[in-house]
Amino acid sequence: MKEATERIKQFALDKGADAVGIASVAEIKRLVPQGYSPDDLLKGAKSVIVSGNRRYTSGTWFTSNIDVIHRQRAAMGGRDAVALAVARFIEEEYGYASISIVPAMFDSGINPVISLKVLAEMAGLGTRCMAGGIILSREHGLLGFVAAITTMELVPDRPLAEPVCPHPACISMWERRKTTPCMEACSAIGGRIENGRLKEVRWFRQLCATRALTTMNGAYIRLLADIMDETDPERRKYLAIGQARRYIEDPPGRGIWGRCIECMRVCPVNRNAIKLQHQVV
Ligand code: SF4
Ligand code: SF4
Repeated sequence: MKEATERIKQFALDKGADAVGIASVAEIKRLVPQGYSPDDLLKGAKSVIVSGNRRYTSGTWFTSNIDVIHRQRAAMGGRDAVALAVARFIEEEYGYASISIVPAMFDSGINPVISLKVLAEMAGLGTRCMAGGIILSREHGLLGFVAAITTMELVPDRPLAEPVCPHPACISMWERRKTTPCMEACSAIGGRIENGRLKEVRWFRQLCATRALTTMNGAYIRLLADIMDETDPERRKYLAIGQARRYIEDPPGRGIWGRCIECMRVCPVNRNAIKLQHQVV
């Protein structure tokens, strides 16, 4: 089992994952509400292979141009392909039923059928942070996650023993001014640090959602009535069909999308990760 686990992890890395870990379905079940476990999607599921990809290049973090940030989504197709490749690999090589899970596959908006954050945390790829409950990796900073659920028993990784957030600089800032870089950057983020640990985290999802969580089809459908009411024909066209769907990743309604990443732009964990990866900043 150990050899197969390592082989599958290496396969995911070879397919382009920046980080990969294994979560046990039995352990996940102990944490999530009924109906939100991997074996609710695949009967008999035993393991979840979670892979993470850096969402942006270093340069992206220095731009204020929303289109540049938005276009980085094009790279996410590669991230999603890892999950499918891993699921197929397990079925073909080991004969266990597997399915791939990627963020945009459910039309459930910001109430997902399964939480990739929980899967990533259980696979030891990072821990929840003050900013919007994002799973932060010490090594990679902000990652985008996908997963393959399988009935194959694999050797699970453990959640990280030490939380990645708060960074020592944030602890010291909190002690001096009762705030952190992410809290200063955004009023959607609130919380408290006690003895160097996150004691309370408050994230006002309704504030963040309009800037960062405008999810694909759900956001478009919700705003369709407003788009049809737009009186300027050029703007209506822009909102309705984007730039004529030039790219496969170009969603309808891209003119109304937010792609906010301000909390991560100022986060010292993320900034350090970018520095480590690319020797810039
Ligand atoms: S993504 Fe933007 S809106 Fe959401 S918590 Fe971070 S800074 Fe605030
Ligand atoms: S800036 Fe980053 S490390 Fe600091 S509290 Fe916010 S999320 Fe945590």
